Amino acid sequence: APAPPPAPHHFTDPGEVEALRRNLLAWYDRCKRDLPWRALAAAEPDADRRGYAVWVSEIMLQQTQVATVIDYYNRWMQKWPTLQALAQASLEEVNELWAGLGYYSRGKRLQEAARKVVSELAGHMPRTAEDLQKLLPGVGRYTAGAIASISYGQDTGVVDGNVIRVLCRLRCIGADSSSPAVIDQLWDMANALVDRSRPGDFNQALMELGATVCVPKAPLCGECPVKQHCRARHRKLFGKPTPVPDVEDCGVGDCPLCPPAMEPWDSSLGVTNFPRKAAKKQPRVMRTATCVLEQRDCHGAPKYLIVQRPSSGLLAGLWEFPSLPLPQDLQEEKEREVLADHLQAWMGQPVAAKGLQFIGEVIHIFSHIHQTYVVYSLHLDGDVTLDPASTPSRWVTEEEFHASAVSTAMKKVL
Ligand code: SF4
Repeated sequence: APAPPPAPHHFTDPGEVEALRRNLLAWYDRCKRDLPWRALAAAEPDADRRGYAVWVSEIMLQQTQVATVIDYYNRWMQKWPTLQALAQASLEEVNELWAGLGYYSRGKRLQEAARKVVSELAGHMPRTAEDLQKLLPGVGRYTAGAIASISYGQDTGVVDGNVIRVLCRLRCIGADSSSPAVIDQLWDMANALVDRSRPGDFNQALMELGATVCVPKAPLCGECPVKQHCRARHRKLFGKPTPVPDVEDCGVGDCPLCPPAMEPWDSSLGVTNFPRKAAKKQPRVMRTATCVLEQRDCHGAPKYLIVQRPSSGLLAGLWEFPSLPLPQDLQEEKEREVLADHLQAWMGQPVAAKGLQFIGEVIHIFSHIHQTYVVYSLHLDGDVTLDPASTPSRWVTEEEFHASAVSTAMKKVL
């Protein structure tokens, strides 16, 4: 068994744990948001369908705001209400529905995993967090715990960004909250705290608290249902750590959960002293030349050429305007030339660099890449025959473009 977290970070008093569970659940029953996946999971008697409904929501919610997800979730569940329906969908259809939600590999992996459940597990979802994580591609520890506790009532905790924030504040954990050692301790705490009779509701309540009350910048401590258990708040109000037995063992520099000695408590930050993260890695800076090739149909309406990205890597399988990553510090004239050469390969006919009209730049921030698209446009007269043997490409109207599996960045480019 892992060693318990050192004082004052652990929950030592069973009475306090019970009170915390009771207060949190009562608040959740009163204040929880009305969300479509909650309604579906609560009303669904079939265990596999219930697990699927929660699974889809959890994958969509990763790194994405609830407000954004709701519409995507409703459309997805309408189109593919069961695992079996999703297993029969094409990747193109999945990408089309996912377009705009970001982190596109999530949709692809969800569909691959649904196919696996149907073909290898006789259509039945694994019922425990351990099996969900082991058997389903794309299902990590958090998602497995969420599905198992919410859909199947397994008394297992979950740790996501919201839970990290709440637990770090409740227990004054100021060590780097992204470090594996701290994350392990938080999992142990979440597993110890989870309410045994209502694990799914308890986990959702803890996450809901982080999303709506114990928010990153200006937490609403006055309205918090667990404020009496919160050591960060105690410290803010009384200026010193909560007096607990053995507290002198903590904070002298060797506690693995206390803030590092060189980053002491900053009273201007209050409870937002917690959690702390190591400095973020700077995103990679990239420049990509992209060309909107335009043709007019016989009625004079514009059509645009889009090409499909490779089936792995960033934005796998999505469609885009012909694009080419550029080396840093390339002169503008040189940019045009390399782009013209690249386009020539698509068109099968010479493209004059000076015919490319510079339109402007579009900046798009992916999670780890700061991408600048240098946008050019080129109007074409006459027929262009695309080579069916090369990478898939097609001409689309503006309406078809928006209905295709294209990224938000490409929509900005258009
Ligand atoms: Fe978060 Fe404030 Fe509640 Fe503590 S009292 S858990 S800091 S909202």
